[in-house]
Amino acid sequence: MTGPAALYLHIPFCAHKCAYCDFYSITRRELLPPFIDALLHEMAFYSENPPFGGFSVSTLYLGGGTPSLLTPAQWKKILLPLKDKFTLVQDAEITLEANPGTAEMAHLSAYRRLGINRLSLGIQSFQPADLARLSRLHNTAEAEQAIRLARKAGFDNLSLDLIFAVPGQTVDAWRKTLDQALAFQPEHLSCYSLTIEPGTPLHRQVQQGQVQPCDEELERELFILTQETLQQAGYEQYEISNYSLPGFRSRHNQAYWSGYPYLGLGPSAHSFDGHRRWWNVRDVDQYLRAVSTQGRAVADTETLTTEQKKIESVLLGLRRVEGLPLAGLPFQAEKAAAALAGIDDCGRPFQSSADNKLIIQANDRLALSREGLLLYNYVCEKLCSLITST
Ligand code: SF4
Repeated sequence: MTGPAALYLHIPFCAHKCAYCDFYSITRRELLPPFIDALLHEMAFYSENPPFGGFSVSTLYLGGGTPSLLTPAQWKKILLPLKDKFTLVQDAEITLEANPGTAEMAHLSAYRRLGINRLSLGIQSFQPADLARLSRLHNTAEAEQAIRLARKAGFDNLSLDLIFAVPGQTVDAWRKTLDQALAFQPEHLSCYSLTIEPGTPLHRQVQQGQVQPCDEELERELFILTQETLQQAGYEQYEISNYSLPGFRSRHNQAYWSGYPYLGLGPSAHSFDGHRRWWNVRDVDQYLRAVSTQGRAVADTETLTTEQKKIESVLLGLRRVEGLPLAGLPFQAEKAAAALAGIDDCGRPFQSSADNKLIIQANDRLALSREGLLLYNYVCEKLCSLITST
């Protein structure tokens, strides 16, 4: 394989653990130096071995965790060999995730000089009550200051992460957060509906009755408010949770949704070579040990069957607003219409029905409607059952 492909580095360190977070990250920053050495070791392994040896990188995503905890010198230590071992295409998109409210924000100019050309800021909300519920470390002023610093550092491709359906959040509060975000005219916005994942402190608070989760009707209202507000402001929704100004879609995420190969390095990172998928151990100590003895730290591997590939193409394709081409659809479009007709048991106040409001067929493509995007999991379950029953 010669690429281009997407490369992801998982930096599993955070200043503290947020109450809702299900990503793999730890706060033991004393492990950063050995981690960086292991990451370089793992990078060397994959650059010298099939299937990723010699491939070129079109998008590089430095995610986590909190990659902005690394100093510019530490990033230089990683990025120089990376550019040597993998060929970065000339206009490669290089994104770094950063969190407001950390001293590390002073490093932004240096990150920019290292070639990082896209910044994704974990703002989540501008409302103090939401930030407290999510146990974020930063406050509203620090969120705003981070955006100003990013612009000053020369980031002209800026993405803001925001979260709605936070327990206790009102429509008005979410509207204010959207308006405050839009005032900075970011090129890209990711607006995620909060999922309360089992095993997180927030999940325990819900189970113990201390926190009331956002109800589905309010979540729907917030989602539609997001779509309408951002559309009016000139943003295109190109995926369930992602919006951009024209020309600023995330190339990295689009590579995932298009089923292109990607290599993930670091604990818990996933990789896919077009046929096989594998994922790394979700523990820094295990990662360090495995990489030092084997050059990599794979926890498990699976080879996708033809049926799994079809299901995956539906799951990924329907996340995108463009949907799937009718040619090559792994089920008959008429059957999809029939499977989704008259659905009224999904616990939502709208009817999907005979005219199939959940899916749209146009321009030789099948895509989810606005209601369909809201019910993504439900629709996918229905459509994937058409694949498995054929
Ligand atoms: S900063 Fe991000 S990755 Fe780190 S704990 Fe919070 S949500 Fe998770």
